[in-house]
Amino acid sequence: MLDYLAAIYKLGETQSRSGDKVTTSALAEMMHVSPAAASSMLKRLEESNFVERSSVDGITLTEQGRLAALQLVRRHRLLEVFLVRVMGFTWDQVDFEAHRLEHSITSSFEDRMDALCGHPTHCPHGDPIPQKDGTLPDERLLPVVELAQGQAGVLCRVGTNDARVLRYLSQLALEPGRALRLVDLAPFGGPVTLELLNGGDSEPIATKILGSELAAQLFVRPQAADLDAEFNVVISPELSPELNA
Ligand SMILES: [Zn+2]
Repeated sequence: MLDYLAAIYKLGETQSRSGDKVTTSALAEMMHVSPAAASSMLKRLEESNFVERSSVDGITLTEQGRLAALQLVRRHRLLEVFLVRVMGFTWDQVDFEAHRLEHSITSSFEDRMDALCGHPTHCPHGDPIPQKDGTLPDERLLPVVELAQGQAGVLCRVGTNDARVLRYLSQLALEPGRALRLVDLAPFGGPVTLELLNGGDSEPIATKILGSELAAQLFVRPQAADLDAEFNVVISPELSPELNA
């Protein structure tokens, strides 16, 4: 049951970005069950006041449902950090392992993992780790394809747990923390050209070309985003090279 709540939470995280609502069929697909099975679980969750369903908003979590989901999400993401940092797993292996472990650990196990890893704020894929009280950092990330051409940013999160995709991204050196710049975005779903940067250095160290569908799964903190928000102006990269350097 908790798995369903966590799945609804994660779907909500991704769907809210695209303005889509969480549907029974999306949930069934994520849980690898039939729509009928998902539907009967949803009915139970609704009766226990964990979820609400409406034609306008789709499936949403109640406050009680949200807190329960966040506890499991916290464990899952902390386990992922622990598995990478302490046990030496790679980021493509840990979603599966954490999923197996997340229901078995005690809260003192969770607390020790948290302390041992230095109270991490994000999982290896860049997803925020909820605090115990359910609070989350306020992050404004954009898909890399929404950067202006020539604009730089830091890759903070990847929107997939698909092990094959993660291994491919590793091969391209596209992991959270990587500074990059959007060079070109071909129309009609064509290729996306990115330059990899070395921290604050504006000289590119490599150029990578990837499909637009994959690029849409890369979320960045744009450079100069704070200025944009503060002054409420759009800073064109051509006009302010120093901000994008
Ligand atoms: Zn993760």
